Amino acid sequence: MRKIPAGIYKWELKVIAESRCKDSIMTGDEKMKELPKTRRDFMKTTAAGAAGIILARPKILSAQASGAIRIEEPFHGAVLNRRHGKPVGGGLKIKVSGQAPLNGRVIVNGSPARRDGTKFTSEIILRQKQTEIAAVSENNFGRGEHRVQVIWDMHSQARYRFSIDDNSFFLRDIAKNNYASLFDCFYLKNLRGLHSKYGTRFVLNIYYTTEDGFELPQFPDRYKNQWQDNSDWLKLAFHAYANKPDCPYQNVPASKLMADFDRVAEQIIRFASEQTYSPPTVIHWGMVQPEALKPLYERGVRVLSGYFRRQGGVWNVNYLIDDIRSEYMSRHDALMDFESGIVFSRVDIVCNSTPVDGIIPTLEPLTKDPNQAEIMDIFTHEQYFWPFYSNYLPDHFKRLGVAIRWLTENGYKPVFFHEGFLGGRG
Ligand SMILES: [Zn+2]
Repeated sequence: MRKIPAGIYKWELKVIAESRCKDSIMTGDEKMKELPKTRRDFMKTTAAGAAGIILARPKILSAQASGAIRIEEPFHGAVLNRRHGKPVGGGLKIKVSGQAPLNGRVIVNGSPARRDGTKFTSEIILRQKQTEIAAVSENNFGRGEHRVQVIWDMHSQARYRFSIDDNSFFLRDIAKNNYASLFDCFYLKNLRGLHSKYGTRFVLNIYYTTEDGFELPQFPDRYKNQWQDNSDWLKLAFHAYANKPDCPYQNVPASKLMADFDRVAEQIIRFASEQTYSPPTVIHWGMVQPEALKPLYERGVRVLSGYFRRQGGVWNVNYLIDDIRSEYMSRHDALMDFESGIVFSRVDIVCNSTPVDGIIPTLEPLTKDPNQAEIMDIFTHEQYFWPFYSNYLPDHFKRLGVAIRWLTENGYKPVFFHEGFLGGRG
């Protein structure tokens, strides 16, 4: 087992403390109510089945003979790449497995599956971006069916994206000092240094105001050409109206989020051009109302990144998706939400919470897990770069350098998530 530096536990705890909105966490019961009815019913059935094993054996046998068929792998919404199967004749061959009633046959997308007790296994070939998998069981008790849909990341390659949240101070600094160049601001200068050395692309997720009098309309448009010239690696995106309050979009109507989104987007296009504008991939605190996902998609959002961590018994920084999908996301790179069209991405590292000697031990184990190796979602926050900030990190750029150098040396290519599918080609 890999030796983890002692400090890691400490910063993990710090992240948890910083990223929780205590006043708005749902209870387990409330979360259950949020789940779609079919999922609730399925969970109840599972729980009843587990109890039944001890209490009523004969009943359970008949339940197994007549129970529901269920595809367990792949997961509904799974994003599958070359690491999840075998490339064959322009497609990707993957395994399908699950549970079905005993003593019957199971057909998966038209082909008979192998049976082993209540288990079934089969193989299918993905040939397009989206595939529906249908498993049908038939025995003396009748017919059952379960369908899932999966996404094939067909242009997949090892890649990383770098997102920086909570940006506002650098814009205030440039506006106040009226620099000749954007890169006279030390923050952008250092980001450009990393780009020059490694080709890294950065998305800076920005606020409308610093809440001390500076607002985006005060930012001059005289740097527009410079923004355009650098837009192949430097993008600006909406993050929130302001740093405070915490979790600003967790308990408000989607219309509030959209209004703030539009105000920031309009300003980015005014002072930095369409080429520099990027749809956001992280909303402040990673929490929005479920009905906000579709309007976000309509505004060009294709990916939303979060932590998908369980804290104090509830899933957090998870865009309020249900517990089953949150748990899945805690150990996978990505998941498609078919209802909105948005793909969720799990943040792999938060540089401001990870000391220099914790960076490689955080990233390296992910490369051994096919479910987490392909896409590195790299992340940090602007405020920790600034000496006036109470939690200023003098080695913050060093942390970025260590992470980016390691990714580069291990074959990860810099991408933007809004280009192609999750930054993959095509
Ligand atoms: Zn934020």
